[in-house]
Amino acid sequence: MSSPIFLIGARGCGKTTVGELLAQALGYAFRDTDRHLQQVSGQTVAEIVAAEGWEGFRQRETQALMSVSAPETVVATGGGMVLAEINRRFMQERGRAIWLQASASVLASRLSAYPESAQRPTLTGRPITEEMSEVLRQREEHYQQTAHHIIDAMQPPEQVVAQILDALSLARA
Ligand code: ADP
Ligand code: MG
Repeated sequence: MSSPIFLIGARGCGKTTVGELLAQALGYAFRDTDRHLQQVSGQTVAEIVAAEGWEGFRQRETQALMSVSAPETVVATGGGMVLAEINRRFMQERGRAIWLQASASVLASRLSAYPESAQRPTLTGRPITEEMSEVLRQREEHYQQTAHHIIDAMQPPEQVVAQILDALSLARA
């Protein structure tokens, strides 16, 4: 009943923004796997990737997912969390997974307004809209397969929260 709520989706879909609001609405704790990783390692995502490659980052990400997951917790996950089967299975079995779905062009426009380049290394070095289309093509199936619920994340954050509460049949605290 109070199992963790996992927010999944590409970077820029609003996992952090919506996750904080959702946690507030429910009186749950809020955790962010990227933030947790940074606190534990003392490095940014970009620094971890530079030192250990994406492979090393992905391994640390699994650890982060498992250590932040707890009852009555909203967990904002890294955009690539669904790439590993162990992570997908963990989220499906241990909690309620919500895919915040948004188009490549919406994601690109949000990310170019706030690039946060230190926090979010580019995956391909290509223009952002192209990159987001490619990322979605590669991951959509995993997001869809992992999610218990799919929510339109192109609405204002408060409305996204309302739809999640509705989908999970949860009331505000
Ligand atoms: P994520 O954690 O999934 O990478 P963020 O929550 O950091 O995404 O949001 C990325 C950017 O998009 C931020 O600037 C945020 O303010 C904006 N944003 C997030 N959700 C929405 C939304 N539903 N509508 C408009 N802008 C949003
Ligand atoms: Mg985030």
